[in-house]
Amino acid sequence: MSKWAYSFRQGKADGAASMRELLGGKGAGLAEMARLGLPVPPGFTLTTEVCAYFYAHDKALPNDLSEQLGAALAQIGAVAGHSFDDPDWPLLVSVRSGGRASMPGMMDTVLNLGLNDNTVGALAKKCGNERFAFDCYRRFIEMYSSVVLGVEHHEFEEALDHYKEQRDVILDAQLHADDWRAVVALYKEIVATHRGADFPQDPHQQLRGAIKAVFSSWMNHRAVVYRELHNIPADWGTAVNVQAMVFGNMDDNSATGVAFSRNPSTGARALYGEFLINAQGEDITSGLRTPRPISAASDSGTPSLETAMPAVFAEFKGYAEKLEAHYRDMQDMEFTIERGKLWMLQTRGGKRTAPAALKIAVDMANEGLITRDEALMRIDPTSLDQLLHPTIDPEAKCAILASGLPASPGAASGEIVFDTKEAETLAAQGRKVILVRVETSPEDIGGMHAAQAILTARGGMTSHAAVVARGMGKPCITAAVGLRIDYEDQSFSVAGRRFRKGDTITVDGSSGQVIAGAVKMQRPELTGEFAVLMDWADAARRLKVRANAETPLDAKAARKFGAQGIGLARTEHMFFEGERIVAVREMILADSADGRKAALAKLLPMQRDDFKELFEIMAGLPVTIRLLDPPLHEFLPHSDAEIASVASAMGADPQKLRKRAQELSEFNPMLGFRGVRLGVAFPEIVDMQARAIFEAAIAAAAQTGEPAQIEIMVPLVFSKAELDLIKRRVEETARAVEAETGLRSSYHIGAMIELPRATLRAGDIALTAEFLSFGTNDLTQTTLGISRDDAGAFLGAYVAKGILPADPFVTIDQEGVGELIAIGCARARKARPDVMLGVCGEHGGDPASILFFEEVGVDYVSCSPFRVPIARLAAAQAALRRKS
Ligand code: PEP
Ligand code: MG
Repeated sequence: MSKWAYSFRQGKADGAASMRELLGGKGAGLAEMARLGLPVPPGFTLTTEVCAYFYAHDKALPNDLSEQLGAALAQIGAVAGHSFDDPDWPLLVSVRSGGRASMPGMMDTVLNLGLNDNTVGALAKKCGNERFAFDCYRRFIEMYSSVVLGVEHHEFEEALDHYKEQRDVILDAQLHADDWRAVVALYKEIVATHRGADFPQDPHQQLRGAIKAVFSSWMNHRAVVYRELHNIPADWGTAVNVQAMVFGNMDDNSATGVAFSRNPSTGARALYGEFLINAQGEDITSGLRTPRPISAASDSGTPSLETAMPAVFAEFKGYAEKLEAHYRDMQDMEFTIERGKLWMLQTRGGKRTAPAALKIAVDMANEGLITRDEALMRIDPTSLDQLLHPTIDPEAKCAILASGLPASPGAASGEIVFDTKEAETLAAQGRKVILVRVETSPEDIGGMHAAQAILTARGGMTSHAAVVARGMGKPCITAAVGLRIDYEDQSFSVAGRRFRKGDTITVDGSSGQVIAGAVKMQRPELTGEFAVLMDWADAARRLKVRANAETPLDAKAARKFGAQGIGLARTEHMFFEGERIVAVREMILADSADGRKAALAKLLPMQRDDFKELFEIMAGLPVTIRLLDPPLHEFLPHSDAEIASVASAMGADPQKLRKRAQELSEFNPMLGFRGVRLGVAFPEIVDMQARAIFEAAIAAAAQTGEPAQIEIMVPLVFSKAELDLIKRRVEETARAVEAETGLRSSYHIGAMIELPRATLRAGDIALTAEFLSFGTNDLTQTTLGISRDDAGAFLGAYVAKGILPADPFVTIDQEGVGELIAIGCARARKARPDVMLGVCGEHGGDPASILFFEEVGVDYVSCSPFRVPIARLAAAQAALRRKS
């Protein structure tokens, strides 16, 4: 026979905290509190297996449940000293849902069950308060009828309003016992009219009805939607808790409240909560009355629980401490005081803000309550974002206009601009702007820098806007659904509204939400606990963490956030600014080696200066400089003005230049003339970059007194032969610079593994390469055959329909891309056991992917500077998971 009902009472319980799957969170918490000897009203939990049975049998309860229900009820009666239909003192119970995962307010509850035309009188007599008894009865009829009998709430509300109007009163508190008696009669009439039968009087019938209704509420619309939003499986089901009622609304010596064992906003170690005198639980959340604080420290006019009921407060504080120590976590508790007697109704792990989570974890480890490893495991790495970027004040009211991909975290408000130049001009005047583009291209870099945030209508998680914004640490949303941009009109429309240049919007890159107007922000401080946790993470992890950075600003941020070097400096990003773009275009569009060399000569000093600064900032740490890798289309001039400006710099004919640009334009630029292919076709580019690197290293070493740790990385290779060719050019340049300066720089040369063929040939490639870095953005693009810039349109459907578990540009596709990486790592290590293996795609900063990289045994991950702390923590968690 299955055990369907698990009883509990102070000092004894069939269940325990470990039985959450069977008893739900609430039931397991009640059982555990009972075992701990806390004052819990006696009750029982019907398991989630009853729920499974209920749905498998056309909403019928198991046949053998009646017997167990009877025994469980008898147990309540024995403890409480009374039963249903007790002529002197009727037993009343609450019937509440309680799933495995918390789903606050999503399912139904019935309170005061057991009241009927007889027991209401007995209750009145027993507590000497007729008004209270009839008020309970009318609440019960209303709740039961709407939850179980399907009578709409508003019918009761309207009847009550009408009654109050007739009696010329405004507040419920002005109604007397006779009034509630009359309201009960009105309510019963409503029920009789609605269902053609009287309100059920038999408490046993009431109970079965309520149990079935609460199980049914697992499938009500709001619960289904909530589960979908929070990835809670539908087959988990809910448990049902039946418990003797205790009344916080019996008199002024009664109360009800909620409290956290530590402050859930700040993490401070102090009881934090609210309570209401003479009230039932729902009165706290309804907002009709203003609750009072629990602790005297927060006394403000109205006395706290500590002041008003010091003995009860002391008792509650003791339980809170006991529960926290027992669960070794901050608890969220509900309690009721009935005529001065404290009852505990719920305990569960409390939800908390990111700063509070951090403080609580570090404090608890320091207090010896948990280990440092446990403290590390308790923080969601991605939540650290909230500590590094401004976030929207959780209290702020937001008019959400559209949602897109949360491409780069943080939030910012500003005036809409559609044009990069205009963004720069306005920002120079001190105005805060949001750059809104269909998508961004290298020409927008200046505007992106100047803007507070970037919003694009197209793109994906690794499109230009996303990668660049993350590098800059600027909020960015890509692929905003329904955003129609009209450059001509300098406006966009969304959700039936039109926004013009100069209108203010807010971009929340953490949630992907675009909001109308400015919104209040908060910037949490990097507190002491942050540094402490990071130290613990560093001690626990094996994976090294580097940063993708090329500007001095990014490199400095990377060091500040604890990067152990630069794992990817995208040299083309150094070309985007001001005059440089003209020189780069000149180089690309030159139709002879001499023309290219002339343009490269202009670029050399700029690159040298940039590299020197990078080496200086990262002194003592490795700097991986990637040779030029742009798909050429990113640099080609498009407009007449751009062509004219390049033509004049080159002294060339604009017509000829336009023709050359057309020749170079490609159908599939991402699979075209880019990466190592540029160096193979135009080796002088490699010569210039290698020279800039060596000269910069020498100059930086002279400045810092430390030799620069140079790593030169060749992008998009698919064969050893390509790398050999580039390596020879680099060696020649190294020798040439040594001959000129008398100084030799030591350096490592490596390859990016971004193509499936390269992963298969990683063994050969590693014979030449001293290090390999998986460029997982391109590797994902080329393995899945999905353009990283155009995936936004359909990837959402793939994830929603379960074809892919997550956006593969965010979290590594372990089955496909992951297997190629594993093959590449194994082959490379076999060929060269000391080969250094890294990951520098965006996945390098994604916690779920980092877990995988730990398992395949790469040596380091590299990610945008603002994700370095996230990666440090995720790497520690990955190492701890492997150990356990
Ligand atoms: C990659 O492809 O993963 C990579 C890091 O290079 P990029 O994003 O610059 O193409
Ligand atoms: Mg790449």
